Amino acid sequence: MMWLMRLVLFDIDGTLVDCGPSVRRIFTGAMEEVFGTAGPIDGYDFSGRTDDEIVLALTAAAGLRTGDVRRRLPLMKGLYLERLGRLLDPSEMRVLPAVKALLDELAARADVCLGLLTGNWRDGARTKLGRVGLDGYFEFGAFGDGQPNRLGLPAVALDRAAAVTGRRWRKDECLIVGDSLADVACARANGIPSLAVATGRTPAEQLAAAGPRWLVEDLVGQWSHPAFAPMTA
Ligand SMILES: [Mg+2]
Repeated sequence: MMWLMRLVLFDIDGTLVDCGPSVRRIFTGAMEEVFGTAGPIDGYDFSGRTDDEIVLALTAAAGLRTGDVRRRLPLMKGLYLERLGRLLDPSEMRVLPAVKALLDELAARADVCLGLLTGNWRDGARTKLGRVGLDGYFEFGAFGDGQPNRLGLPAVALDRAAAVTGRRWRKDECLIVGDSLADVACARANGIPSLAVATGRTPAEQLAAAGPRWLVEDLVGQWSHPAFAPMTA
């Protein structure tokens, strides 16, 4: 008999942690330095987007040619990651309510496996989580490097999960936990159940309209939520 298990894939920003204002400032500075502009970044919502996607969208809006942007992207990425590592201030950051308690509960369960599914570039994800002591919970993940949008991330996460756990996961054994419309859309497009959490910039009513399998205001006391049970009902 096959063990029934749940592979839980967490988004980072707005779901596990609020990094405060410095990330956007650092991102903007690196873009301006390398591309000469950060485009319409002031009104731009980063929620659910991959870091590659943010750069490509903002530079396209500023009229830059995609080929030039792609060529210089590694330089901008390097600047951003180096500065993020140096400047991200944990006193400006906030671990979202009950996140640590939930991760402790889930990590202790034999029927749950934890991973990341985030638009952050890998090293940025490590910096953000490491700064608030959350990096030890996740053995693997899918990241924004080379990903022009979120839809391709679940396939990467499932491959990495298989490599790390030695188990091929079915999609209905997985759960995507995220705070944005893009998290819900990504889950739906990939046939994976989702738990939307309204601790980011997107209000619960908007998340509900996107059709997540489950929706909660926050993660307080949610360790016993059916979303984390080993199988979908
Ligand atoms: Mg998010």
